[in-house]
Amino acid sequence: MTLAAVPSVLIWLLGAVLSLGAGAAMAWTIAARSRRRVEAARAEQIAALEARIRSLDAQHASQQLVLQSMTTGILALDVQQHVVSLNAAAERLFGLSSATARGRLLQEVLRSPELHRFVNDAIATGGTARREITFDSAAAGILHLAAEPLLDADGAPAGLLIAADDVTAERRLEAMRSDFAANVSHELRTPITNIKGYVETLLEVGWEDPARAKQFLGVVLDNAQRLAHLVEDILALSSLEQRHAQERLQFEPVPLSSLLEPVIDEIRSSAEARGIVIEAHVPDDAIVLGSRSLLGQAMANLLQNAIQYSGPRTRVRVDVTRESDSTTIAVRDEGPGIAEKHLPRLFERFYRVDQARSREAGGTGLGLAIVKHIAMVHGGRVSVESRLGAGSVFRVHLPTTPPAEQPWI
Ligand code: ADP
Repeated sequence: MTLAAVPSVLIWLLGAVLSLGAGAAMAWTIAARSRRRVEAARAEQIAALEARIRSLDAQHASQQLVLQSMTTGILALDVQQHVVSLNAAAERLFGLSSATARGRLLQEVLRSPELHRFVNDAIATGGTARREITFDSAAAGILHLAAEPLLDADGAPAGLLIAADDVTAERRLEAMRSDFAANVSHELRTPITNIKGYVETLLEVGWEDPARAKQFLGVVLDNAQRLAHLVEDILALSSLEQRHAQERLQFEPVPLSSLLEPVIDEIRSSAEARGIVIEAHVPDDAIVLGSRSLLGQAMANLLQNAIQYSGPRTRVRVDVTRESDSTTIAVRDEGPGIAEKHLPRLFERFYRVDQARSREAGGTGLGLAIVKHIAMVHGGRVSVESRLGAGSVFRVHLPTTPPAEQPWI
């Protein structure tokens, strides 16, 4: 090797080293860049996943919110009938706690043969079933159950979903309506049969005996009057019962002294005829917001009863008292009083303590039910205090201001 050749070799070597270095630097830059790209892509994926999780969480939370706020009880069971989940309404209706019921067999947590029969029948018939069962819990009496099969992602049976609704109030109302219809028919039948019978006899025996004919016509008139009273009372009750009765009522300030005066005057002569004295103690400034005609009818019904059921030479007393948020009108008599066992049912339609006596006195058996409904459309209530042999006090409690919404019962 010549001396002149040394630098050129060095230069070549140097060049090679330099180009290797540049290549390595470039390779490093490319690797770094691609690493950054991968990291960025990964960060993007993580962000997307986090967003998806957040959205799923929000979706789950809103589904839970819907599920928990439903009034329908939802109970999910797996194929072995273990409780998988239940919402708040199901906890309330079935009297269960989600924390203790979850994961346990339905038979273990609920002892209701009717419910278990329903679940078994639903499973046997492919999962779809509907039935009403009586269920004695604090929250419900009659439950309407609807079962649907739960399927997994592949469409295989995974359990049962049961929706439960409390239909106790509806069924009670239906029973009351059908009882009422049966009672009305029964009440109408007696005067109609009487009228028919006496008119037929009159037609048969003719008018030869005018005194007898007059007596028969008197019976016909009594029965026709009874029918008229019945129809009037039934109409009054049904108009009071229409859900929005209160919205159609014209409430006005009603001074109770001016309300009671004409009602008492109208009844006074029949009271005096029986030797009964009526006294009223009504503060001049006792005023309630209500319907004058309905309140007048309620008072007339209570006063008529007080007179009808009291013995001669007794006293009937009307007292009005005011508290801060209510006004009470009390009608007190010195009549025979009512045995305690009758008191809880006294305001029911057609409930009578003494059937014969009520009918004989021309009663329809609806007077107190009407009083109760009149108090209710005013946002008030009724009460009775009575003891056999010690007279009775019937009270109507009215709020000082009427409610915004009718408390319908
Ligand atoms: P009726 O038309 O039979 O009087 P009501 O609904 O007004 O119907 O009363 C229901 C029942 O309550 C009556 O049949 C009677 O047995 C009893 N009753 C009501 N008011 C009195 C009273 N002041 N004293 C005793 N019993 C009463």
